[in-house]
Amino acid sequence: MPPVIGSRIGGIVAGSGGGVAKGDGPSSVDGEDRQPIADELKAAARREAEYREHVKTPVPKTKGRRLGRLYDVPRYGEKYGILYQPGGKALEYSPWAVNVAKSCSHGCTYCYGPSVARKTADKYRDDPDPKATIIPSINAGLTRALKDGCDIPRVHFTFSGDLYDPSAVEGSTEFASSGEMTRAVIEAVHSHGVGVQILTKGGTKAARDFDLYRPGDRFGCTLTFIDPEKSKTWEPGAALPEDRLRALKEAHKRGIETWASCEPVIDPDETLELIRRSHKFVDIFAVGRWNHDKRAAAIDWHKFTADVVELLDSLGCEYYIKDDLRRYLPPKGDEDDGRDPTPEEGEVLAAVAEGILVNYPGVPEMKLWENARERLGYPIPLAVVRSWLRASGYVEAGQKLNGSPLWNPPAGVVA
Ligand code: SF4
Repeated sequence: MPPVIGSRIGGIVAGSGGGVAKGDGPSSVDGEDRQPIADELKAAARREAEYREHVKTPVPKTKGRRLGRLYDVPRYGEKYGILYQPGGKALEYSPWAVNVAKSCSHGCTYCYGPSVARKTADKYRDDPDPKATIIPSINAGLTRALKDGCDIPRVHFTFSGDLYDPSAVEGSTEFASSGEMTRAVIEAVHSHGVGVQILTKGGTKAARDFDLYRPGDRFGCTLTFIDPEKSKTWEPGAALPEDRLRALKEAHKRGIETWASCEPVIDPDETLELIRRSHKFVDIFAVGRWNHDKRAAAIDWHKFTADVVELLDSLGCEYYIKDDLRRYLPPKGDEDDGRDPTPEEGEVLAAVAEGILVNYPGVPEMKLWENARERLGYPIPLAVVRSWLRASGYVEAGQKLNGSPLWNPPAGVVA
């Protein structure tokens, strides 16, 4: 049964409120319609009670802690329309997401959105392409997924486009304004007893919706540059750095859990400075690297990783290092680094190393780690890779290839 649209129960909106989708208005209260409405109200009240139970004992906040993961939610095989479980790098940020548009006017030069949407960068930036019937689709997806018993602590907005991109509603038949859409989206998710996780470059535009946030929600900004001129060059349509920091500060002041995505890291010094300036009002930092650009090879990722971890630890921050950067982490005693590879991991490492030796004079440990991760579908600690190399007779060459230590193969394995 779909959630009640536009009704308030115990202070919680059980529907899309101001952004009610066309054709999704409240049911009649006449005659025989009363029973279904009563059932819907009861269901909404139950979801509300379950949600309150879920958040009343929040996990105590731990500072100065590197997180293994940002969440712990299984993957399900089913598809739920607009509501989906991302794969690849996005999965590190959230197990559930909704994208509201296949375009974005922020125009970031590093954006991968155009390739995902199979558009040119100009078309992706200049031609608004909102998805149709967002609210009914969110309601349908969440209703079905929750009925199937899926664990959905939060829905992430968004991996494609930006919820606070004003052009995201241009041409929409569902919403008259961006403000109407963003509120309706948050309220629709809440009406199912599910939280939202926002990631935006819209800055303080997002503050207009802070009154809707509840325990369990997260508000986040992508932090890339301190220098406004660099930001204008790389992200010409997005909010300026100061505005994003202001939005985070305001959210924190209101008791909203805040997070910052430090990715892409185009200027490591600027990223470190952003962390210094924002750590007092950012609850969790997620740090990645810069991908899909040859210029990223000029950055010393070992140094940046060591610097950022040292800084985050020294500031007592809670943080998550994304897989792309994790491989540069200095080994930590408290991780499961010293273990032997499992038999399956050993087989994959051997096959991958053999493949690498076809084209390389030795085995760069980072390449081995990366290719093994792709084959296995999960990352193994770099120390496990090193331990496998040693146990298999590989010897450190004392040289680096593409910044990664190179290992010479044992006698009998031809490089
Ligand atoms: S805000 Fe995100 S979706 Fe929009 S252009 Fe920038 S990177 Fe792409």
